[in-house]
Amino acid sequence: MRISDIEHIVEAWAPRWTAWERDNVGLQVGDPGRTVRTVGVALEVTDRVIAEAVRRNADLLVTHHPLMFRPPRTLTPGSSTGRLALECAERKIAVYSAHTNLDVTRDGVSFALSKTLGLRDIRFLAPLEGVLAKIAVFVPPGHEEDVLRAFASAGAGEIGNYTHCSFRTPGVGTFLPTRQADPFMGTRGSLESTEELRIEAIVPRARVRETVERVRAVHPYEEMAYDVYPVDTPEAGYGMGAVGMLPHPQTLGAFLRSVQRHLKADSVRFCGDAHRIVQRVAVCGGSGSDLITAAAKSGADVFVTADVTYHTWHDVPASMALIDAGHWETEHVILEPLARRLRESAAERHERLNVYITRVVTNPVQSM
Ligand SMILES: [Zn+2]
Repeated sequence: MRISDIEHIVEAWAPRWTAWERDNVGLQVGDPGRTVRTVGVALEVTDRVIAEAVRRNADLLVTHHPLMFRPPRTLTPGSSTGRLALECAERKIAVYSAHTNLDVTRDGVSFALSKTLGLRDIRFLAPLEGVLAKIAVFVPPGHEEDVLRAFASAGAGEIGNYTHCSFRTPGVGTFLPTRQADPFMGTRGSLESTEELRIEAIVPRARVRETVERVRAVHPYEEMAYDVYPVDTPEAGYGMGAVGMLPHPQTLGAFLRSVQRHLKADSVRFCGDAHRIVQRVAVCGGSGSDLITAAAKSGADVFVTADVTYHTWHDVPASMALIDAGHWETEHVILEPLARRLRESAAERHERLNVYITRVVTNPVQSM
């Protein structure tokens, strides 16, 4: 397999366009055309993760946290990112990262966390919003299938398990070709009206430009008429956080012990009465404080996340308990499903791929 095959496998599950716009996901170091036989899966690249990769002859590290979240200006040992990137390049170890796109996908980080905590009936806590646009293209009859194919090739018109979703309405278009024009139909200087179809489809905002280019390539007009506008439709196939049910009600105290055990957390911080009964549990792996309101609205008895700041604790609604179980602790649970998906996808393609989960605990935080 090639590194680009691994990219396709991960991005079929966690599309890049669902990532936070300021994120830096995808191939961080390496040549997508290179062959890969051994892949290491880790939350992040550290010196010890690289040493392990060298020992295990890994060609590629797939990480959750991007190696170059804030890209370094130089690849020298002067900065930790520069040092790690340089070391990977010198050792011919590629690095590929799936970060916020892996957070928001089904069976991604928050679903993995929910399953690790034994939740059932898991669903997204908050749908992904502000990621879609609508594109409408005007074409003469006979060219509608070309447009539809161009939409689909760029990822426009995908709704859940359906592709090629579009809507078309017939109408009359008018135009007057100027002297400089080279019109597909009509004559220069004379006002024309013609039958046209308006074909519209939903498109991820991040793919608008590519969609326009692909449609332009098959559109017969010298000047393609099209509109792109934002829509507020939430993207139901992707979302932030997750919420589910414990099989049986239990005290917050008992749940805290279970969280600690399942997430391998030395300690957990929480607010709420340890004797209160909890069953509906909201979660967000990593820094999920922004979802506290959504968690309370979902009727959750308790919300499990990480990186909670002092003032945030003060603002937690009385109806809900809050647990900060740690960033590494709430995210390392994705490594097993990520490795499994790589192994299974390789097996489906009848390819040999050796996948290991790092044994290095990359958590820099200690408790006592
Ligand atoms: Zn994280």
